Amino acid sequence: MADSTETQTERAPLPLGPNPRFITENFEVPGIDQIEVYRAHGGYEALAKALKSFQPDELVEEVKKSGLRGRGGAGFATGLKWSFLPKESPKPRYLCVNGDESEPGTFKDRMIMEVSPHLLVEGVIIASYATKVHHAFIYVRGELLKAGLQVERAVREAVEAGFIGKDILGSGFDLAITVHHGAGAYICGEESALLESLEGKRGYPRLKPPFPAVVGLYSGPTVINNVETLAALPAIARYGADAYAAYGTEKSKGTRVYCLSGHVNRPGNYEAPLGLSLRTLIEDLGGGMRDGRAVKAIIPGGSSSPMLGADKLDLPLDYEAVAAAGSMLGSAGVIVVDDQTCIVGATLRMSEFYRDESCGKCTPCREGTFWLVQLVERLEAGEGRESDIDLLLDICDNMFGKCFCPLGDAATSCIVSSIKLFRDEYIHHVREHACLVGPGATRAHATAEAHAR
Ligand code: SF4
Repeated sequence: MADSTETQTERAPLPLGPNPRFITENFEVPGIDQIEVYRAHGGYEALAKALKSFQPDELVEEVKKSGLRGRGGAGFATGLKWSFLPKESPKPRYLCVNGDESEPGTFKDRMIMEVSPHLLVEGVIIASYATKVHHAFIYVRGELLKAGLQVERAVREAVEAGFIGKDILGSGFDLAITVHHGAGAYICGEESALLESLEGKRGYPRLKPPFPAVVGLYSGPTVINNVETLAALPAIARYGADAYAAYGTEKSKGTRVYCLSGHVNRPGNYEAPLGLSLRTLIEDLGGGMRDGRAVKAIIPGGSSSPMLGADKLDLPLDYEAVAAAGSMLGSAGVIVVDDQTCIVGATLRMSEFYRDESCGKCTPCREGTFWLVQLVERLEAGEGRESDIDLLLDICDNMFGKCFCPLGDAATSCIVSSIKLFRDEYIHHVREHACLVGPGATRAHATAEAHAR
């Protein structure tokens, strides 16, 4: 793993060495997806410890102390989120696991569910105990068939072993877990749309407030957590909050599973402490740029996050630093773009995704995502006008903050940031009818001929 000492200077000695892998520690162990192998490597010991050593409220405090923040995108403090559940409620309370991973550039939850589904199941049981939930739902993206089947099997094995059901390990705590396969919609990763989908309805986001902690699944108090977030809980229960919080930065604690993709030699999932620099991730873990090319842009948190220029290579990957640089860490899906990539073409591809995935509930997003694609498409084809560039920004301005859910804002990120950083490429498309770089750069001659005809 990477040398992350850059984030650990001036800190107390690290309890588990410089690069602990709280989540992926045993991912290379053959058969770790089977309960016998998982248990042979300490699996479900953290659950036993949590049930024996902590009262539920104490566990909530322990998670607060660990500094764990949601790994789905928003980065909200997990323990604090749990504490929003009302103490008393006439309705049952629920835990919903958001495994609807669909953000372009993000593939960590899929890996966790496919490779070590018991880690997730153990985390779900610990979270359910802490939040006094007796029925948890694991919502898995429909396209992630293997992940869904692995989780289903792990739940069955855990039931047979007595880790799910009545009086778990003699603690008096009861829990049922239901695995639900989504039907394939990006919007169902938005928590309230996920709840609608679980209830059997079309996956439309709900108006908030009320927030799910108060009125959630079947109108009961509901906590919704991401897969990676829950997969960190066994390590926190096992090693303690202080050990977990010893890693990362002051406000972004612990480790993350960074999804590295794009033009690097070794794309993949890499767990490392928060605060790891982009440069270390790309050069040390990712093996550097493919074909020795230069970095042109980085999308640090999945396609919803604004792209950054190559001048940000030394940026620490933590929530605060990435936000200060004008983007967001989001899902930690780091997409690296090389200098031979046409930014207009890349932006078109991302815009098409948001147009296709817009649920259509609100006008700014439904219409805006359509028109953004229309404009970028004609710019990319060399048939646009220079005024289209500002028109794009105007549409984004009419979408940002005016849509019903975060997808609308997300759709504007790639457009606004790419124009801010690479306006010259858009202008080149207009004036030369071709890309500034890459294979499309030779298109001018053919396009000019077509125009002449
Ligand atoms: Fe649907 Fe887009 Fe509106 Fe969200 S912003 S509710 S995805 S139309």
